[in-house]
Amino acid sequence: MIIQPKIRGFICTAAHPFGCDVAVQKQIDYALHQSLLSAIPKRVLVIGSSTGYGLASRIITAFSGKASTIGVCFEKAAENNRTASPGFYNTAAFEKKAHAQGLYAKTINGDAFSDVIKEETANLIKRDLGQIDLIIYSLASPRRVHPETLQIHQSVLKPIGQTFSGKTVDAFKGEVKSVQIPPAADEDVANTVAVMGGDDWKRWIHAFDKAGVLADGVKTIAFSYLGPRLTHAIYKNGTIGFAKADLHQAASDLRAELSAHHGDARIVVAKAVVTQASAAIPVVPLYIALLFKFMKEKGVHEGCIEQMYRLFHDYLASSHPLPLDVEGLIRIDDKEMAKDIQDNIEAAWPAITTDNLATMTDIEGYRNEFYHLFGFGFSEVDYNQDVDPVVNVPSMQELRI
Ligand code: NAD
Repeated sequence: MIIQPKIRGFICTAAHPFGCDVAVQKQIDYALHQSLLSAIPKRVLVIGSSTGYGLASRIITAFSGKASTIGVCFEKAAENNRTASPGFYNTAAFEKKAHAQGLYAKTINGDAFSDVIKEETANLIKRDLGQIDLIIYSLASPRRVHPETLQIHQSVLKPIGQTFSGKTVDAFKGEVKSVQIPPAADEDVANTVAVMGGDDWKRWIHAFDKAGVLADGVKTIAFSYLGPRLTHAIYKNGTIGFAKADLHQAASDLRAELSAHHGDARIVVAKAVVTQASAAIPVVPLYIALLFKFMKEKGVHEGCIEQMYRLFHDYLASSHPLPLDVEGLIRIDDKEMAKDIQDNIEAAWPAITTDNLATMTDIEGYRNEFYHLFGFGFSEVDYNQDVDPVVNVPSMQELRI
């Protein structure tokens, strides 16, 4: 079939297998061109491994650190004239390229929130790796079926306490629009915490502890975002920020529990990047378009792969004591939050309109990165070519419950 982008709101419902392969290869090339991270943990699990920060951390640990990696993700294979999801094609590309380098890589494709996936992952670790040294928790999901109550929780992106009024962008129409988002109800907050908070992360670690697969010195990390004042009402002080606060608390709880294994649990505060998750948050795409402009002008632009290399190089594979902020967080959002960058964004923000969007922001850079997420917009790919959307991943275990 001929595969072209199909944009619906802030998502793209098609993905290109060759384009996703190119996107993964570019990240691998980046990883291979950096200095070897010999001190990286060698047995790594990435929960949320197929796109965004999870995929980039898997690529860095495997290709810059020569680690064996297990991935867990929730992706769709191609069927009935529909392409697979980009994370499916990314995983196919990653595994093929890892195996070609003699690296161990297997993936479990199913609902990470379920008990069954946790048990299956523990079994796979036991069977193939013995134990695990690093667990990277990088899930971003709109919903969770609770494994005990079977209740379905939907996360929402809303302010808390008062209506949010601000501006946002339709990146594809190139329109800056005003947006009003009513405050969350109490149950919205509870549901968002249930999906994006720390409960599931803890359940993973507890399941692994019970299964005896946590290695001595095991580390676990989860990703968070704080961002500038401009996004606080919708992010840090909104429903998602509430869930992140719960995730931060889970890190403290897990840190105490993992001391029995001489282990550690930390929150990594990462920068804003273009992913399927961030595209869904009102205001954030316009903020990212502006952030890109000023970070590129200053020569400090970073995407997922650059962030993840810096995370391992400066923090997790470094022999120095872990540099943390006063709250015990790993801050790789430092370049985003630099005063000059944020001053520029604050000054420019009120003036952005549809008419000057293209010149005042890097909306084109935002759009290009968005297309790349789905394997589109690469000069290496002939998008008029008839391609088979079905790709097999022999090392991927599908678990549908
Ligand atoms: P993403 O949408 O690119 O990736 C989400 C991953 O979760 C995918 O691998 C997907 O398959 C997996 N997933 C979703 N539901 C699942 C389920 N039920 N079972 C198994 N796997 C499932 O997201 P991302 O932007 O890389 O976000 C990852 C983490 O990083 C999140 O905690 C997010 O808040 C955080 N973060 C993101 C940004 C950003 O700008 N994107 C910034 C800072 C922190």
